Amino acid sequence: MDPKKTVTVSIVIPCYNEEGNIIELYKRVKSVLNEKQVEFIFIDDNSSDSTLSIIETLSDKDTAVKYISFSRNFGHQSALKAGLESASGDCVITMDADLQHPPEILKSLLVKWEEGFDIVYTIRKDDFINPLKRLSSTLFYKISNYLSDVQLKNGAADFRLLDKNIVDVLVRDISEYHLFYRGLVSWVGFNQVAVAYNSDKRFTGKTKYSLRKMLSFAATGITSFSVKPLRYAVILGIFISFITVVYSIYILYVSIFTDKTIAGWTSVILSVLFIGGVNMILLGIIGEYIGKIFMQSKNRPHYLIKKTNIK
Ligand code: UDP
Ligand code: MG
Repeated sequence: MDPKKTVTVSIVIPCYNEEGNIIELYKRVKSVLNEKQVEFIFIDDNSSDSTLSIIETLSDKDTAVKYISFSRNFGHQSALKAGLESASGDCVITMDADLQHPPEILKSLLVKWEEGFDIVYTIRKDDFINPLKRLSSTLFYKISNYLSDVQLKNGAADFRLLDKNIVDVLVRDISEYHLFYRGLVSWVGFNQVAVAYNSDKRFTGKTKYSLRKMLSFAATGITSFSVKPLRYAVILGIFISFITVVYSIYILYVSIFTDKTIAGWTSVILSVLFIGGVNMILLGIIGEYIGKIFMQSKNRPHYLIKKTNIK
């Protein structure tokens, strides 16, 4: 990178009911990157509070503030996609609106980029995260890394810097419906480096990731990058069939050579319930993948724009 050339840094910020955080985030990013040319891209994921009007007022005062407002809530990952597609900077930083990703470390991300890294991702040191969230996220990364072909780092969130080339790859070449940028960014390769940071508490408001959203996000993460769950389903099926064969030999033996055949109720019920349960789980896993194929085959857009100031 030629240091004399003025570079533009795009900051992509998905916002869903973040009215109390926008101005503070804007001010802090501005003061940290005061020597750089900055472009803000706020994606309003159909907030029901005054998030959009605050962003609009901001954009009236500062032409560097761009926004896209969705027609309904399409989710964090779709908001990131919209941001990446509209960003015009030489590099793009994606971060949350709630100030858990402290703007003060943006400088260290840019230093790494200027050293020549294409992707600078961040690793959260878990100081201010509540214990339940920490446990669930550690568990998710352990299971996901075991099941998936793409390795994720514990504490990696959607807070990262991407060189323009990587943004081009993500926008142009990745057309999957179920987006999971953490996995995709790890999957694309190139020169990557991590920067550790202490995450802050949410500035105002509540988390927008309910347990249900988190579980569905985790399932997307695992099923988007691996068919291992299906393979394990087959292995489990073979194992159960093997036990069934051994058990049928025993049953045949008992019914032919002894007179104790009535006393088998408990084992019959247990095996029916067990095999029924396992079948349901395996069908569920297969259903999860088929559902993904179904959604992908429709080729629907990831989001619809209600309002924007980007030409
Ligand atoms: N977000 C979004 N759409 C959603 C949910 C969340 O754009 O449907 C945004 C939210 O405004 C925030 C970021 O995604 O900027 C991360 O959400 P949050 O801070 O609630 O998640 P947590 O930090 O609790 O995991
Ligand atoms: Mg947050």
